[in-house]
Amino acid sequence: MIPYGQQEVTEKDVAEVVRVLRSHFLTQGPEVPRFEQAVAEYCGAAHAVAVNSATSALHLACRALGLGPGDTLWTSPITFVASANCGAYCGASVDFVDIDPATGNISLLALEGKLTRAQAEGRLPKVLVVVHYAGLSAPMREIAALCRPLGIRIIEDAAHAIGGTYENEPVGNCRYSDIVVFSFHPVKIITSAEGGMALTNNATLAERMRLLRSHGITREPQALKYDDAPWYYEQHDLGYNYRMPDVLAALGRSQLKRLDDYVARRHALAQRYDELLAGLPLMLPTYEAPDARSALHLYVVQIDEEKAGKTRREIFKAMRAAGIGVQVHYIPVHLQPFYRRLGFAPGDFPVAEAFYARCMSLPLFPDLGEDREDQVISALQGALS
Ligand SMILES: *Cc1c(COP(=O)(O)O)cnc(C)c1O
Repeated sequence: MIPYGQQEVTEKDVAEVVRVLRSHFLTQGPEVPRFEQAVAEYCGAAHAVAVNSATSALHLACRALGLGPGDTLWTSPITFVASANCGAYCGASVDFVDIDPATGNISLLALEGKLTRAQAEGRLPKVLVVVHYAGLSAPMREIAALCRPLGIRIIEDAAHAIGGTYENEPVGNCRYSDIVVFSFHPVKIITSAEGGMALTNNATLAERMRLLRSHGITREPQALKYDDAPWYYEQHDLGYNYRMPDVLAALGRSQLKRLDDYVARRHALAQRYDELLAGLPLMLPTYEAPDARSALHLYVVQIDEEKAGKTRREIFKAMRAAGIGVQVHYIPVHLQPFYRRLGFAPGDFPVAEAFYARCMSLPLFPDLGEDREDQVISALQGALS
């Protein structure tokens, strides 16, 4: 089976991990700040906080922004459940904004309309989580222009988007948001096995996230309230164990060195898909916009069922039978049983639901190679014929 996504681990990566395994620290040693510094520098952000997953980073981001019971978080429905769950973890209400069908990202028009109605009813969200679907940045300048005057805080869920650019600058610079979150899960652009990172230009938010990452405990002499004995530490908030191990930070930093190469290889493969799939009853994805270049985590086609004379379900099954690990990104989050129990129902976000009904992700990862890509293409030609 050719998977839809897969990591590449080189001998250099292995050597870095082994070097740390033989060192004094397995967790929270010198490798974590080195990885944090390297990502912050790459992105042009002031602070980076490494954690054990993007899910944890989203949770810490919401906590640092003060999200809690009585507040509301908005995100778009075509995403992984973690983009919404972070609000629920904090006891906040979660709601959704429909998508732009051309990109899968949040729709500016839908956002503007929903903000106007929410403002009139006095129930604006505290936090908006903006997902960069498949790696293409959402229109952050316009989103910030709508949200900032209303005091809404912005988190970019850039789990797909490290290595992408927006306005010719790296995604992650936090120019139009409070916090940007990356994932280093193996199917994402670069990996640390499990891992995530939260970037911010705000020193207070960074400090809060660092505290919450490790139980809410501090040992900083100037922060201690009751004692300063050499063994003394204090818990100042209800935090978690979300630390990234040093061993994995070394893997992540080693992978980061190949980030630009990975994104370039993804683009070369995507351009080949574009050329060789032209003419089939498909809509091909947008991964270059005037103001953005995708990191291309996913290559998602939309199947024209009418022209094809076949359903997405039939085509998906035929691909799987042919050994091609196609996938569907994503089942709209509001249709998950957990969110239906909170009152959401089919029809609530029709553009997202229509997108879901037609989408299928083809295999795309740095060392897919042209031979395997050709296998995917001929299987798709077969499934559609
Ligand atoms: C993968 C993903 C996450 C969660 O990442 P983990 O590191 O696995 O926790 C969050 N949001 C989006 C959009 C994702 O694709």
